[in-house]
Amino acid sequence: MSTHTTELLLLPYACDACGEGFCERVSLMNLSLGLTEQGFCLACLSTEYGRTPEAMAAFCWDYVKARDCFLDPWQKVDASECPKLFSQSCFCQHSV
Ligand SMILES: [Zn+2]
Ligand SMILES: [Zn+2]
Repeated sequence: MSTHTTELLLLPYACDACGEGFCERVSLMNLSLGLTEQGFCLACLSTEYGRTPEAMAAFCWDYVKARDCFLDPWQKVDASECPKLFSQSCFCQHSV
């Protein structure tokens, strides 16, 4: 385990690259990108794909909203529980 144990207890997911926690919607963004084995926070995803975090989230949201199998779980997530809202915008607050 990493040194982020206390933090991990509070957050549903942790980035495989930097250990940063991320919310369920960012997890769905990972899945929309075909990342099923690993999960990355939005900052690491955007670095990997050469986009801003905002553009990355918009890109994933375009994918999610066009597919019911992604949109259903996305809508069920309570975005107000996103851990990032305490510190910064997570760009996960899209809904239809
Ligand atoms: Zn990360
Ligand atoms: Zn979020």
